This record gives sequence, structure tokens and C-alpha cells, in this order.
Amino acid sequence: MNVHSTQKRLPMFSPATGKQIGEIEETPLSEVTTFYEKGRSAFQMWSALSISNRLHYLRTLKEYMALHMEEIAKTISDNTGKVLTEALVADIMPTLDGIEHICKHAEKGLKRKTVKTPLLLMGKKSFIEYMPRGVVLVISPWNYPLQLAMVPVVSALAAGNTVILKPSEITPLVGKCMEELFAAAGLPDGVVQVAHGGKEVGAAFTEGTPDYIFFTGSVRTGKIIQEVAAKKLIPTTLELGGKDPMIVFEDANLKRAAKGAVWAAFTNSGQVCMSAERLYVQKTVYHEFLQLVKKEMETLKQGIDENADVGSMTFPAQIQIVREQLVEALHRGAKLEAGLPPDQWKEGMFLPITVLSNVQHNMKVIQEETFGPVLPIIPFEKEDEVISLANDTVYGLNASVWTKDVKKARHVASKLVSGAVVINDAIVTVANHGLPFGGAKNSGIGRYHGAAGLRNFCHEKSIIEDNGRKNTEIQWYPYYGKYPLFLKLFKSYFKPRKDMIYFAKMYLQLLKKSTEKERK
Ligand code: NAD
Repeated sequence: MNVHSTQKRLPMFSPATGKQIGEIEETPLSEVTTFYEKGRSAFQMWSALSISNRLHYLRTLKEYMALHMEEIAKTISDNTGKVLTEALVADIMPTLDGIEHICKHAEKGLKRKTVKTPLLLMGKKSFIEYMPRGVVLVISPWNYPLQLAMVPVVSALAAGNTVILKPSEITPLVGKCMEELFAAAGLPDGVVQVAHGGKEVGAAFTEGTPDYIFFTGSVRTGKIIQEVAAKKLIPTTLELGGKDPMIVFEDANLKRAAKGAVWAAFTNSGQVCMSAERLYVQKTVYHEFLQLVKKEMETLKQGIDENADVGSMTFPAQIQIVREQLVEALHRGAKLEAGLPPDQWKEGMFLPITVLSNVQHNMKVIQEETFGPVLPIIPFEKEDEVISLANDTVYGLNASVWTKDVKKARHVASKLVSGAVVINDAIVTVANHGLPFGGAKNSGIGRYHGAAGLRNFCHEKSIIEDNGRKNTEIQWYPYYGKYPLFLKLFKSYFKPRKDMIYFAKMYLQLLKKSTEKERK
């Protein structure tokens, strides 16, 4: 029997043109166990390699990707509708930079570390060792389909794990492309396996036997995954949605802030977990700023060619979410400063870039993730007021503060309940792989990037080493006659100024008690 004939095929469409650009075979659910068995068997070999050997494969991957940048950019652009420049700058470049950062820092970050041993454990040594977890399941979304899959995969690999990657079914061409990239890097069989398909495939792999789950996607799916993982106590990282505030004070460089707002709101058509989705502007400069934003928007060109600025939406169902939020806002009195009402939208996946004023705090467009090219602008008067408005959603992924007063910016940044804050720029914390990345509140659990992003994929193992020459320890049996000595020892130990001679005397007396043969 031809196995492939029974496999479900996923058609691939270009969102920008609507044309079918290929199809892909979905991974049959019956293969889940085989994937895990293969991953587990490859883990024996992969985890036994030295880090520098593992990094050798990752360097090959990086070099191969750098050579094939243009083909990869075209694949991403075809499958997502994002402009070529964004495919390159915001998906490929951060992936390569992430791999480079890992190649530079993984050896040091994952090296066995010596830590200080307290006096009470005299004569011993203490270490931390980082042990890979096993088979890591990475489930990724469609908005940055390369970066958000590759960076966790590569981090897990560097730490010594093998990986099953389930990329988004909305961008299967990129999923296929990543499978080819891993093969081109010469990774041994079973070290990275790519499972293609939609939520049923994702659910089946989650229900399988992963040792760790790294999920990037919506809050809704994150909660489902966390529930399944909790039943089996499988550890997870969840990178979820956002509703990021951008705060512009009257003393900001308004020209820069307006340009920044337009980019942060409309890059990738607003389909960014860290898009500026709520723009708070100090009342004294609100009208001036609104005009600056509108002027900036006039220069933008929609399309997907090399010179276009704003691409198409990627996922048809997302358009419905954007539409519903806009309809509710307009119905409740919001004013369209730029864009069109949804009933005047053209057919297809390009949405008008939209600015709203006169919005209310309890509207969906302020409280729920929009993930589309819509920017509501809200006036505020006082610093405390804007901090409390910015913090008042269930999300906390990223935020930005715009002012020339560095002290004020830092103070506001510290008060925001957010995984990251950018001052006088937006989004870019994700582009520094030395910084941990992740969310507060419903925006996620855990971090990746940076040293924490590699150690996430490891069990942190504590080791205490004794040379084994002494026959006993003070805290071992027998306890006979030790209580008053322990009292004296601890009292001397926890004094503000330790009397080391007295401490040593008590310690030796306790040790002697431990070696006494008989109770008196
Ligand atoms: P999604 O949750 O619909 O899907 C994400 C992935 O999960 C896909 O691969 C999908 O097939 C899989 N999936 C769906 N249901 C599943 C289930 N029951 N079990 C296992 N897997 C399942 O999200 P999306 O629409 O692809 O992505 C958009 C969302 O991702 C937005 O909310 C965005 O904010 C968020 N996001 C977050 C980050 C971040 O780093 N915090 C980055 C990008 C996107």
C-alpha cells in the first residue's frame, strides 16, 4: 500500500494573491509514537556530544541559511503576505542573530558552574550542572514563522535535547523550508523532526510523551496546552499574545514618536505579538501628534514587492477578529481618523491601515488582542493615570515609553507590568538575544533568549562533592549529647560577627560526638 495516498494534504496559498502555491502532506496522527521513539533514541547520541560538537551543526545551519537568504525570504513572503523587507529584517535576520548568539554563548552558559559552599558544609564543593531534558516539543505560530520556530529549536538543540517541531498549518511552506534547512545542516537523523499539520496534529503531539513543551501562539491554545501538560507534569514555556501600550509624553521627540508609532502599529500588518496596539498620548500634544501620525501614514505603500511597506494579512480568520473589534468600536462612538469602515473594505487580504480616536477603555479594541493594522489613540493627562491605564489589561508582553526625560522614562518603565519595555523605540527588545524574552500575566509563562533561554531546556542539577575521607558528619547519627552543642554552634554562626575560633571548637566537639562509639 502506498502510505502517502492515505495522508491528508494541506494546500498552501499565497495570502497576498490568493493563488495556491503548493501542498504539503500532513503528518498522520498514527506516527506520533514513532516520532517520540525516534527522538528519544537520537537523544542518546545527541546529548552525549560535546556542546562544541553540537554547535558545529548549528554553525553549518547558519552559514547555509545566510547563503540562501533570498530564497528563504521569498518563501516567507509568499506564504505569509509579508513584505520581502520584513521577511528579511524581522524573520531571517533575528533567526541568524539568535543562532550566532547561541554559538557564541552556549558553551559558557551551559558549563558546569562552581558556587560557594557555606561554612556549615565545611570541606565540600558545590556545583550546578545543566542536563538536557530529552525530547522537546516546539509548537509555533504563523506571524514570524521562521524566527519563532527556529530560535527555540536551536536553543533546545544547543542544550542537548532533540526536538519535534510542529509549525503552523497557516504557513506550511515555511514549515517545509525549515525541514529542508535542518536536513541541509546535516543534523543526524531524529535530532529534529518536523510534524506538519493543524491543531489536531499539535494536540496529538502534546498528548504524546514530550519532556518539555515550548509553545508560541494564542492565549486560548496556550491554556489548552498548559492543561494537558499539567496532568502529566510536563514543564512548559508559553509565549502568548499581547496588547502593548505605547506611551508618548509631551516632551518626547514627537516626529520620531509618530514615525515609531506608525511602524510599531503597522509592521507585519499589525500581526505582531508586540505591536503597538494602544497609543496613549499626553493631552497637551494629542492633536498635534494625531496629525503627525496621519501624515506619516500617507507615505506608506501596501503590497508585497521589494519597495512595499505594509503587506497583507496572513490568516483569513484574523480578518474577522479585526472586523468585529472595529464594528464594535465604531458602533460605540469611536471615530475613524484613517482607514475605512469594515463594510467598505475590499475583497482580499489587504486591510486598510486604520487609526481610531474617541475610544473607550472597555472596548474590545482596547482590551483584546487585535493582531491587525488598527491603532487606537487615547489622550491622557497624568503619569499615574497612564501607568494605570497601560497596566489595565490581562496582557503584559511589551510596552514603550517616549520622552526626553530619561529619569521619567525609567520610572514609568519600572511601573509597567510587562515582560519588556522599550524607551524611545518599540518592539526591539526581542532583537537583543542577550535579553530574556517573555510575558507577564496572560502574555505567557517562562522566558527564552539569553542565558535563561538555554537553561530553560535543561534540568538544573545541584551537585555537592565531598572527598569522602572523613568517616562521619556532624549532622549524622548519633544525636546523643549534640543538641546543646548545635545550639552553641548555630548561635555563634548566626551572630552578626562570627567568632571563628569558638565556631571551630563547637564543630570539632560535634564531630567528636559523631565518632563516639557508645552512648554514655
Ligand atoms: P494559535 O494558538 O492558533 O496556533 C499556534 C500553534 O498552535 C499552531 O501551530 C497551531 O497549529 C497549534 N495549535 C492550535 N491548537 C492546538 C492544540 N489544541 N494543541 C496543540 N497545538 C495547537 O496561534 P496563531 O494564530 O498561530 O498565532 C497568533 C498568536 O500567537 C497571537 O495571539 C500572538 O500574539 C501570539 N504570538 C505570541 C508571540 C510571543 O512570543 N509571545 C509571538 C508570536 C505570536
